Amino acid sequence: MAEHYDAIVIGAGSVGVPAAMSLAASGVRTLVLDGRASAGQGSNKTAIGGVRATHSDPAKIRLCLRSLEIFSTWKERWGDDIGWSQGGYAFVAYREREESILRGLLAVQKSKGLNIAWLGRRELLELIPDLAPDGLVGGTFSPEDGSASPLLALHAFYLRAKALGVEFRFHEPVTGLETAGGRVRGVRTPQGHYGADVVLNAAGARAAAVARMAGMEVPVRPDAHEAAITEPVAPFLKPMVVDSRPVAGSANYYFYQHATGQVILCLTPHPSVWGEECGETSGFLPLVARRLVRLMPRLANIRVRRTWRGLYPMTPDGFPIVGWSQELAGYLLAVGMCGQGFMLGPGLGELLARVVTRKTTAADDEILDILSPYRQFAGQEQLK
Ligand SMILES: Cc1cc2nc3c(=O)[nH]c(=O)nc-3n(C[C@H](O)[C@H](O)[C@H](O)COP(=O)(O)OP(=O)(O)OC[C@H]3O[C@@H](n4cnc5c(N)ncnc54)[C@H](O)[C@@H]3O)c2cc1C
Repeated sequence: MAEHYDAIVIGAGSVGVPAAMSLAASGVRTLVLDGRASAGQGSNKTAIGGVRATHSDPAKIRLCLRSLEIFSTWKERWGDDIGWSQGGYAFVAYREREESILRGLLAVQKSKGLNIAWLGRRELLELIPDLAPDGLVGGTFSPEDGSASPLLALHAFYLRAKALGVEFRFHEPVTGLETAGGRVRGVRTPQGHYGADVVLNAAGARAAAVARMAGMEVPVRPDAHEAAITEPVAPFLKPMVVDSRPVAGSANYYFYQHATGQVILCLTPHPSVWGEECGETSGFLPLVARRLVRLMPRLANIRVRRTWRGLYPMTPDGFPIVGWSQELAGYLLAVGMCGQGFMLGPGLGELLARVVTRKTTAADDEILDILSPYRQFAGQEQLK
């Protein structure tokens, strides 16, 4: 007889681990399966740790406001240092186009409870004195956003999930689903099979293959992004700075100074680099360095210590895909986190627990509607 669980989570990543933690806290007997050796070995460990509720739509704003509460109070509540630092996020505008997009979003952001303001050029330069002043119009600043360590945070969630009774099995990829009468009944792995009433696909960049096991096509594709970290320098920068002007070879560019002094840099390649290849490229550093020096000339001589590459589980509109399958009862999706899975994880985990225990609120239903697997994918996230 296969062991039976209330819920099986496929993937011990940015989403699967906090989801399992919240499921167990709601009394759901949960098993997490992952093909890799330990928790957070997929995209989670490649994230740079940015946590913001500064998004363009109510679903991500609400989920991340809750995540911010969880990240920022974790140490006080549970004792583990997860590297939380509240430096805020600044989206800078050097052109009318970015100014009008950023200003246009303020109403919806504020209406959902985000603490954010438009800063004129002078105020922004007071906050970030090293920004290149030429052509700077202003920007938004959301002081309650911040950053945390994806490694420390996921490990803390993993330990908490285990303390709540979640079982984890590593080196054990899910290879198929067991179904009967239009319902999911469990999963198969090379080591055996496990029964469950609910199966949650939280398989990150591999979510489409795992959805196909349920006969579903979900538009999630691995999209490779690189990042870099410099040598440590004296503190000079508090917020994460995002420059969304496109430049040849890249769409937007963002960086922050870690509490230990290093600057961490990232950009969105344009065109996108599809596929699972995670080797660093020789093209990234010249591209990101030019953007760094253009935005902050003072950093011209800073030395980069390391670059790495990971995967965004990307969707066509830049929004996650969350909700039940209509074809296979009991099969739940929490996939397509794009560049925000780490920051979405804790808030989304709690929402998933309410979905599984059928305790969603009206606000949850609005989120689920926006992130529905059955939406048209016609919109476009403006702050990807
Ligand atoms: C350079 C870079 C910087 C980033 N910066 C940020 C940031 O600042 N903030 C932020 O919020 N996000 C950031 N991200 C994005 C973030 O890393 C992802 O959105 C997030 O990790 C996705 O979470 P996930 O749980 O969906 O996937 P993952 O964390 O990859 O977890 C999925 C898990 O599923 C497992 N799996 C897959 N298939 C199977 C199977 N068949 N059976 C069992 N297990 C399976 C995998 O092994 C993996 O462990 C960044 C990403 C990159 C590449």
